[in-house]
Amino acid sequence: MRKLAAGNWKMNGTGSSLAEVEALVAALPAPSCDVLICPPATLLSRMATVADGSAIAIGAQDCHANASGANTGDISAEMIAEAGGTHVIVGHSERRTDHAETDAQIRAKAEAAWRAGLIAVICVGETLAEREAGRTLQIVGEQLQGSVPEGATAANTVVAYEPVWAIGTGKVPTLDEIGEVHGDIRARLGDRFGAEAQGMRLLYGGSVKPSNAKEIFAVSNVDGALVGGASLKAVDFGGIIAAL
Ligand code: PEP
Repeated sequence: MRKLAAGNWKMNGTGSSLAEVEALVAALPAPSCDVLICPPATLLSRMATVADGSAIAIGAQDCHANASGANTGDISAEMIAEAGGTHVIVGHSERRTDHAETDAQIRAKAEAAWRAGLIAVICVGETLAEREAGRTLQIVGEQLQGSVPEGATAANTVVAYEPVWAIGTGKVPTLDEIGEVHGDIRARLGDRFGAEAQGMRLLYGGSVKPSNAKEIFAVSNVDGALVGGASLKAVDFGGIIAAL
């Protein structure tokens, strides 16, 4: 399947940062993988304009489950689509931790994404304490079961495995550890969604850089990456895309 390099800019980037996307568009007329950038909501529309007609898709980092209403500070999946987004990340560990988001809420957000015609990038991953307690597969399995709605297909859903302890820390699981979790995710999705699960893209996320991307992408059942810090600069993200 065609791999996906997805960038999560988190709460970084202002108008001047659009120059990074312009540089990426110029450098990648025909990338060998799909490319997605998820800027803060303030940049969605402008970035979609910059990327229009290029191989780069634009997405958001979160959405509310409702289409509209009295939800101060939130944005809906419909608003993201209207702004030019095609994807939305849901259940990132920073949302699970900082905003106490539950699997049920994340599941509702993924359904909202589909309702608006967006692809949901659903994140799962264990904490360091959970890994050290030997509970990684159990935790990731529970998050998958709770966060991925019925009706998930290869076309509407991407799953990102992001060990919480690897995000922004420079620490990365061993290739065997990544392979073990990705294999388990594929099997669990297969139990629920049958053959469809074979086509669902499973991204690894957590301290991916140009220097380690190639070996991570060679791991079985790794279909791309969700990249935080290294997606902010065209030269770094371009290096990761080249490794795909
Ligand atoms: C992320 O937050 O999704 C992420 C993977 O961050 P980083 O690449 O900076 O570890």
